[in-house]
Amino acid sequence: MPDYQAFHRRSIDDRDAFWAEQANRIDWQTQPQTICDYSNPPFARWFEGGTTNLCHNAVDRHLKDRPDQIALIAVSTETDTEQTYTFRQLHAHVQTMAAALLDLGVRKGDRVLIYMPMVAEAAFAMLACARIGAIHSVVFGGFASVSLASRIEDASPVVVVSADAGSRGGKVVPYKPLLDEALALSSHKPQAVLLVDRQLAPMAMTAGRDHSWASLQTKHHNAVVPCEWVDATHPSYTLYTSGTTGKPKGVQRDTGGYAVALAASMETIFCGKAGETYFSTSDIGWVVGHSYIVYGPLIAGMATIMYEGLPIRPDGGIWWSLVEKYKVTVMFSAPTAIRVLKKQDPALLKRYDLSSLRALFLAGEPLDEPTAQWISDGLGKDIIDNYWQTESGWPILTIANGVEKAPSKFGSPGIAMYGYDVKLLDEATGEELHGADKKGVLVIEGPLPPGCMQTVWQDDARFVNTYWKSVPGKLVYSTFDWATRDKDGYYFILGRTDDVINVAGHRLGTREIEECISGHPNISEVAVVGVADTLKGQVAMAFAVVKDASGLVDDKSRFALEGEIMKLVDQSIGAIGRPARVRFVTVLPKTRSGKLLRRAIQAVCEGRDPGDLTTMEDPSALQQIRDLM
Ligand code: AMP
Repeated sequence: MPDYQAFHRRSIDDRDAFWAEQANRIDWQTQPQTICDYSNPPFARWFEGGTTNLCHNAVDRHLKDRPDQIALIAVSTETDTEQTYTFRQLHAHVQTMAAALLDLGVRKGDRVLIYMPMVAEAAFAMLACARIGAIHSVVFGGFASVSLASRIEDASPVVVVSADAGSRGGKVVPYKPLLDEALALSSHKPQAVLLVDRQLAPMAMTAGRDHSWASLQTKHHNAVVPCEWVDATHPSYTLYTSGTTGKPKGVQRDTGGYAVALAASMETIFCGKAGETYFSTSDIGWVVGHSYIVYGPLIAGMATIMYEGLPIRPDGGIWWSLVEKYKVTVMFSAPTAIRVLKKQDPALLKRYDLSSLRALFLAGEPLDEPTAQWISDGLGKDIIDNYWQTESGWPILTIANGVEKAPSKFGSPGIAMYGYDVKLLDEATGEELHGADKKGVLVIEGPLPPGCMQTVWQDDARFVNTYWKSVPGKLVYSTFDWATRDKDGYYFILGRTDDVINVAGHRLGTREIEECISGHPNISEVAVVGVADTLKGQVAMAFAVVKDASGLVDDKSRFALEGEIMKLVDQSIGAIGRPARVRFVTVLPKTRSGKLLRRAIQAVCEGRDPGDLTTMEDPSALQQIRDLM
């Protein structure tokens, strides 16, 4: 077995030779000429001169060896449906969807926004875009109209693909009315809207704009749409994520580098083999869904499960029953989901035959020891933490058992993955921290490896200014996470350096929530912070100053205003952004120069020492928060 240290070292020191080898994992129409063009840092152009297609590598490539093997399994415990598609069938459905998109005017390079529940048609739409060289932008179905509108505006899609509704916990969640609202709010108007009618909710159709998938499917049944060979650097998709400012960033991904990185990770990290089944419990609206529900497993020739529903319905054994039924070998989930399952009857873990399963990968938020221990004892399988971001597209830190088996260490997602030249920087001096157990900002020296973001959609300056920093002799990408590294090279993530919070593995910008709450007519100022929570990792907590406090005379009136604000967040951002509580204060803790002291508020909420407060304008502000907590 090769030595992982040497494997990693080579990926940095002999970068082009290393990645040229990895590039052989996928099909190219034209071979790349230049492995990495880093002549204009921090912009890395991977596999230049090469042409390929993501859909070809995920679907068509497998038609020769495994046409009748299952490729996609769409399970919904909400609608009690289970549908499987072989590679041949998937190929046909994707071509029909591609023909429908072409019919609606989509061309290479155009954007298609996908606002869909976890149904097979969402995967068809993503793959169809890749097939014709269109750029998809999937928006998580839990986002409401204002968030959706800002994404529509930024992506300026030619077509939006959506559905009548999703369903959660047996409750229908309409999508179409939210989409209509978002389209009314957005100054960009798509040419057409393609709608999948699941017959869960009534759908008002706008003549001339809205088209039904059912009729286009009939029209383009048996369509033959060849793959469009695109440059390796052609954008495959954008995916919006939160940062420090209120405006979400469109993370832009390429085609060739992404396909190579995913293909490599499927073998070296996930150890998944063609013909096996992969089950990621994430949602296509998140990066994990892009990389490890849709593209990664399919590129590897695996069957992939798309799951709509809760982990505890009909009972907490549902996921394990799927592992048994489909002989899942690799599973991927988030710590919050495991914490939810932990509250269920432990016998559920023993009810099913889980012998096929080799490992459970967990990511998206810190994995706490009791949760890791519980699931490890219960399953008796490898539990593999992995740390990455929307921006990276695949793990930055974990262990690569497919290269060399390595032990996991509790509390650490692992060591630096190949291609990532990970470093820790002293925040104050910008100097690299050498030696063990020092806290610094986790950064990656450029170029970022294949698969990582190319830029911010339509905003190169924002990409450079947000993420990159010059430190003596190098240009480094900031992950915005604090970390330490032990003597064995294992990293420990200590939380974000910016105003991003992580609720149940979902990344939210506190500024986005603040902007939304400030839109309430009776709120003059608000601070939102993330507070530790035993189930969700963190929850959002809001402290607001009201304009006219005369109505806030008792608990009842305060609850009423709190309810109004929560409803406003639900309607604008979606329930995932809703604060756990909105508390009212007369003044917010700020520095004398007017900067909100979010970290001090957070510390007080968590019962910690708020640290040095000498720059605070009005000490009573923090006392009000202390009294409320
Ligand atoms: P997202 O872009 O939504 O995937 O969120 C990325 C952020 O989630 C990272 O910057 C970390 O703050 C956090 N995160 C992701 N994975 C882990 C992990 N395994 N351990 C700790 N934090 C994580």
